[in-house]
Amino acid sequence: MVIQSAKAQTQAVPYVDVGLCQGCVKCEARAVCRSKALIQLDPGEPPFVDASRCYGCDLCVTACPFGAIRLNRN
Ligand code: SF4
Ligand code: SF4
Repeated sequence: MVIQSAKAQTQAVPYVDVGLCQGCVKCEARAVCRSKALIQLDPGEPPFVDASRCYGCDLCVTACPFGAIRLNRN
């Protein structure tokens, strides 16, 4: 059961498609993430998701105007 929960959590964590990300100076996806799970090391660089902080709310997926935050890796 614990393994299944961990798997569900992994699948719910989105990722940033760097091919679509525009590296906005002010990342709108970061702005909506209440758990500060989207990390952007430098302004103008694509952010990445810190899976240990992400709780899979998907707010960032709809907030990114370029569709750069994705849920499925396939
Ligand atoms: S994730 Fe979206 S909003 Fe954030 S920097 Fe990339 S393109 Fe811009
Ligand atoms: S799914 Fe929610 S918690 Fe995870 S990075 Fe996106 S906005 Fe943050």
